[in-house]
Amino acid sequence: MTAKILDGKALAKATKEAVAAEIKENIKQGKRAPGLAVILVGDDPASALYVRNKRNACEAVGMYSEHHALSNSISEAELIAVIQKLNSNPLIDGILLQLPLPNHMDSDKVLEIIDPAKDVDGFHPYNLGRLAQRRPLLRPCTPYGIIALLDSINEPYKNRHAVVVGASNIVGRPMALELLLAGSTVTICHRFTKELEPFVREADILVSAVGKAGLIKGEWIKEGATVIDVGQNHLPDGSVTGDVEFETASKKAAWITPVPGGVGPMTVATLLKNTLLAQLGFPPLII
Ligand code: NAD
Repeated sequence: MTAKILDGKALAKATKEAVAAEIKENIKQGKRAPGLAVILVGDDPASALYVRNKRNACEAVGMYSEHHALSNSISEAELIAVIQKLNSNPLIDGILLQLPLPNHMDSDKVLEIIDPAKDVDGFHPYNLGRLAQRRPLLRPCTPYGIIALLDSINEPYKNRHAVVVGASNIVGRPMALELLLAGSTVTICHRFTKELEPFVREADILVSAVGKAGLIKGEWIKEGATVIDVGQNHLPDGSVTGDVEFETASKKAAWITPVPGGVGPMTVATLLKNTLLAQLGFPPLII
C-alpha cells in the first residue's frame, strides 16, 4: 500500500477562504470584522515568528488584529491587567496568549483570566471541560484542526481504535477527547507508557504528538491506518520532521500527514475559524 497524503496546506487554504468569504458577507450585512488580540511576552524568536504568522493570517482573511508585545520583565499582575482590558474590549473576539510565558509567571493561572468566550486557543479549563462533557464550544486549535482533516477523508471514527501518543494539555489530551467525542475507542500513550510498539500496531487512527523525531517506527504502522503526525522536530540541517518515520510508514498507512504541510497549517486556519465562531456565537458555519 502507498499512503495518500492528507494535505493540511490545501485544507487550511480552503478553510481560510471560507472564513474570509463569511467575514466579507457579514461586513456587507453591517457587522464589524472579527478581532483577534495576540499577546507576546518577551523576545523569544520562535514565539515571535509564530505570532507574526498568526497576525498575517488574520489580516489576510479580513480580521482586525491587535498585537501586544510586552517586555520580559513585565509582572504577572501587569499581564493580567492587559488581559482583563481585552476581555472587556468590544472590538476583540479572541485573545491569544503566546506560550511559553517567562518563568516568573504561572501560565495556568494567567490562561484562566482569559474570558472563556474569547479563549480562541481553547485552553481555558471551562472550554476543555465543555469538550470533556461532549458540549464543546471553543476547541483547542490543533486537535480541532486534525478533526477537520479526518472529516475531509470521511474517517468513520466509530469501530476504530484511535491511539494518541502524547498527553499534553494543548495537543494529546484534547485530541483524545475529540476522538472520543467522534466515537472512536481511544488509548492514550505518554512518557510513562512502558512499550509503545504494541499500542501503535493496534492503531486504526494514530496521532503522534511528542516531539521526538523517528519515535514511531514505520514498520509498527497497521496496514490501512490513518497516521497524523503532529511532531515538529528541527533537525541540525535546518529542516523540520515529524515523530513518525515517514517513508516506511507511507508503505503501510492508507493516509498520512506530511511534516511540514500537514497539521501545522490547520492549526492557524482553525484559530481563524475559532475567532469567527467566537464573534458570531457559534452559528452553524459553512466551513
Ligand atoms: P509536550 O512536550 O508538552 O508533550 C509531549 C508529550 O509526549 C507528553 O505528554 C509526554 O508524556 C509524551 N512523551 C514524551 N516522550 C514519550 C515517549 N517516549 N513515548 C510516548 N510519549 C512520550 O509537547 P506538545 O506541546 O504536546 O507538542 C508535541 C509536539 O507537537 C511537538 O513536536 C510540538 O512542536 C508539536 N506541535 C505541533 C503543533 C502544530 O500545529 N503542528 C501544535 C502544537 C505542538
